[in-house]
Amino acid sequence: MQTILMSDIYGQYLTMKAEIDEAIQEVIKSTRFIKSGKVLDFEEKLADYLNTNVVACGNGTDALQLAFMALDLKPGDEVITTPFSFVSTVEVLVLMGLKLVFVDVCPDTFNINVTQIENAITTKTKAILPVHLFGQCTNMEAILNLAGKHELYVVEDACQALGTDYLFSYGTRKKAGTMGHIGCNSFFPSKNLGAFGDGGAVYTSNKTLADKIRSIASHGMKAKYEYERIGINSRLDSIQAAILEVKLKYIGKHIKARQTAARFYDEHLQGLRGIKIPGRTEFSTHTFHQYTIQTDDRDELKRYLDAKGIPSMVYYPKALHLQEAYKSLGYREGDFPVAEKLTQTVLSLPMHTELDEEQLGYIVEAVKSFSQRRRDAKKN
Ligand SMILES: *Cc1c(COP(=O)(O)O)cnc(C)c1O
Repeated sequence: MQTILMSDIYGQYLTMKAEIDEAIQEVIKSTRFIKSGKVLDFEEKLADYLNTNVVACGNGTDALQLAFMALDLKPGDEVITTPFSFVSTVEVLVLMGLKLVFVDVCPDTFNINVTQIENAITTKTKAILPVHLFGQCTNMEAILNLAGKHELYVVEDACQALGTDYLFSYGTRKKAGTMGHIGCNSFFPSKNLGAFGDGGAVYTSNKTLADKIRSIASHGMKAKYEYERIGINSRLDSIQAAILEVKLKYIGKHIKARQTAARFYDEHLQGLRGIKIPGRTEFSTHTFHQYTIQTDDRDELKRYLDAKGIPSMVYYPKALHLQEAYKSLGYREGDFPVAEKLTQTVLSLPMHTELDEEQLGYIVEAVKSFSQRRRDAKKN
């Protein structure tokens, strides 16, 4: 059996090697490493796939910064978001002087608890920032209704959910990141569509807003050496764009491979004592950026899997409101009990496009035998 990896970027590359190598060589020969037609080509193809406007940028964290800069929020304006996410979701907000307001998450989907958002809305609230964690959409229809009622912006952190479909109750289907005012994505190598370095993108259906975001990402430029606003320098480079353009062709196949692996896990881990498989919803597909189970014996299970050569990861071991860096926000232990409990119980199993049945079988057998042993131990 091949060594089991948490994520197999090299193995996936080998399935597209000739095309990727040629695309990279083309950029090297052109020496147009920055701002070549490759970047525009890729933006256009991604825009077609998502059915929205796309502005490529340096990484997912920048995408979030560009989104909030484009909305012209003022210091002290409040943004409601989840404490169970990667730190990028919140750091640019704090750097911009915006006030973070956390609400708890749902225990089955790990996503923000929409019924708690309304209680957190004040006269200073300006935006809601849902995160489609691990590849599954938040309940966007409810969030968009709330935002409409209170005149709030919705910025989606879709960094883990490229390709996920959301199904509205009235039948419309939209891609993750294209439902709110602005969507943010990351092409970090292990993401659903990963570059061979950093990369990111901002999405918006509003063309004027897209132009503004493009200007902000390019030093606030209007025309060459003319600056209409204060901007930043955030760009996707041509080699990354060329690689992403090749990989985007296979996104459907890659998502299917993740879903097939997830189905295998679901079928074999469902109903195992002490193990909870990821919850699903009727309104979202799941692209399984991560396959995350919950168990009260998380640390023991992780050690048990390690000993059998099976990697696993804890996303995330500490909620954002309890991080030292965000102490000044004034939150305390106990404020968000669901998120805090998850940090003790979640474990993400190997998930990527190259897992084969032998590897998956080996992994589920290990989880099963762990569950059996714990059961026997607890009986005595
Ligand atoms: C990866 C990620 C980001 C940031 O992306 P980078 O490209 O690493 O800056 C932001 N939010 C979430 C939820 C992510 O998973």
